[in-house]
Amino acid sequence: MLLRRFTQRVLSLLLLITLAAGPVPLGAQSSAALPGLGDGTTLSPVAERRLGDSIVRHLYRDPDYLPDLILMDYVQSLWQPLLQAARQRGEALPEQEDANAWEILLSRDRTVNAFALPGGYMGLHLGLVGAAQSRAELASVLAHELTHVTQRHIARNMARQNAMGPWVMGALVLGVLAASKGADNAQGANAAIVGSQALAVQSQLNYSRDMEREADRIGFAVLQEAGFSPQGFVDMFAVLQQSGRLTEGGGFPYLRSHPLTTERMADMQSRIGVDAPVQHTSRQTPDPAEDWVPRLMSARAKVLAQPDPQVLAVWFAQARDEGLASQPLAQQAVVLYGATLAAMQVRDWPLALSAFGRLFERCRGNPAALEQARWLGAELALAVGDTARALSLLALPQATGTSPSRTQVLLTAQARIRSGASAQVVGDLRLWLADRPRDAGAWRLVSQAYAALGNQVASVRAEGEISALEQDPAAALDRMRAAQDLARAGKWGPNGPDYVEASIVDSRARTLAALARQQALER
Ligand SMILES: [Zn+2]
Repeated sequence: MLLRRFTQRVLSLLLLITLAAGPVPLGAQSSAALPGLGDGTTLSPVAERRLGDSIVRHLYRDPDYLPDLILMDYVQSLWQPLLQAARQRGEALPEQEDANAWEILLSRDRTVNAFALPGGYMGLHLGLVGAAQSRAELASVLAHELTHVTQRHIARNMARQNAMGPWVMGALVLGVLAASKGADNAQGANAAIVGSQALAVQSQLNYSRDMEREADRIGFAVLQEAGFSPQGFVDMFAVLQQSGRLTEGGGFPYLRSHPLTTERMADMQSRIGVDAPVQHTSRQTPDPAEDWVPRLMSARAKVLAQPDPQVLAVWFAQARDEGLASQPLAQQAVVLYGATLAAMQVRDWPLALSAFGRLFERCRGNPAALEQARWLGAELALAVGDTARALSLLALPQATGTSPSRTQVLLTAQARIRSGASAQVVGDLRLWLADRPRDAGAWRLVSQAYAALGNQVASVRAEGEISALEQDPAAALDRMRAAQDLARAGKWGPNGPDYVEASIVDSRARTLAALARQQALER
C-alpha cells in the first residue's frame, strides 16, 4: 500500500503528533521547553483543522468506519456533557470552538484504543467501548483525550518538529493507524514488518510525559464537572490492566501509549480522596446497579467488533445455558442482547427473534434498558422486512421529558421509506437537518427517500452533501455536477422541477469547486 511504503521512507525524519501507540517508556522524551500557546511556533487552529480534515477523509472511507446509530447516541450522551464541562471550565477556548470539528469516529477495530486527531476529531475503537462497563469508565478515557485537544497538545507536539510539512504528518498518522490495527486485521508478514516500523514511528509521535499528566489532571476535573463519578478513572485503569493481561503483545495500543504507571494510578487515587465528594452526585451516572445501558452497549460493541461466527456462537451458548435464569436480570439482559445481535449478524432470524422476545421480557422493569431493547427490536424487524412491527416498536412513548433520540428518528425514517411513506420522510428529515446540517446519516436517508420518490436530482445532491461532510470536496463536486446534469435532463420525478433545489445545487457546486481547487493547491 502506497501509504505504508511512504511511512517507511520517511521513518527517519519524524517526530510528532499523537496517537495510538508506541512502546516508549514514560519519561523517555524530553518534556522541557514546550512552546506555549500563542507564541507563534504552534500550528494555528485553522491549519490544524485542515490537517485533521485531510486525515479523516481517509478514515471515513475505511471499511472499519462504523457510524452505528445506537452506539453513537450512547457515546454522544457521554461526550456532550464532557464538552460542555470543558467549556464551562474555560478549557475549550473560543478560537477553538470555530476551528475544531468535535467529531467522534467509531471504528469496528476490536483493539482497546481511543485517540485524538488534529482539528478536534477523535477516533474510538469498539474494543474500548466493549471493555468499559460503566458510563464513567468510558467517559474518563474520552475526557483524557478531549483534554489533549483542548490543551492543544497536538499543535504543541508539531511545533517540536516544525521542519515537517503538515501533509507529511497527515500521511504518517494514517500510516500508523493502518499499522496499529489488530493482529487479525494485519495482512501477512509484510504488514508485520511495517507494523514494527510503525511502532518506531509512534514512539516519536507520543505526547510528552507532562502532556499526559496534564490530560489526566484536567481530564479528571472535566469528568467530575460533567457529573460523572470520578471513580471512573480508577475503574478504567483496572479495566485496562485486565485487558492488557488478556491481550499481550500487539493488540493493545492504548496501554502502550498510556502506560499505567504506579505514579499515574496513585495520583488518581489521591485525587479522588482530596478533590471528589464521596457521595454520588452524578447527573450523568444513574445508580450503576440500575443502569444496564453501559453493559448493553458493551455487548453491542463486542458483537459488532467481532464478525467471526465462532466467537458469535459463544453468545448463543450463553443464551441457551440453563444457568442463565438464576443470574441477575441485568446480566440476563446483556447475554440476550448480545445473542439477538449476534444472531442478526449470521442471519439466523428465528434465533434472533426468540432471543429478542426473552430480552424484551427481562427489560420490562427498566425503562432505559427497555428503550435499548426497542431499538434493537426495530433493527431486527427491519432486517426481516416486518416494517409494521418496526414502526410499532419505534412509536412507543418516549421517557418523560426527553425529545426523540437520533436513533429513534433515523430508524423511523428507514421504516417509513420501506413502507412507502418517503414524502413524509423528506419533510421530517429536512426539518431535522435544518438544526443539524452536519448529520451525514440523515442526509443518507434523505437521499434514499428522494430516490424512492423519483427525484434523482435531490437524491444525488444529498449524496454530494455526505461527501462534503466526509471532507471530500472533489467527490462532493462530482455529485453536484451530476445533479446539475440530471436537472437539465428533467429527472425530477412526478412533481416536476424544483427551482429552489436547482439553485441550491448550483450554488453548492460553485462553493465546492472553490474548495476542491484550494485543496488541490495545498497538496
Ligand atoms: Zn494521553
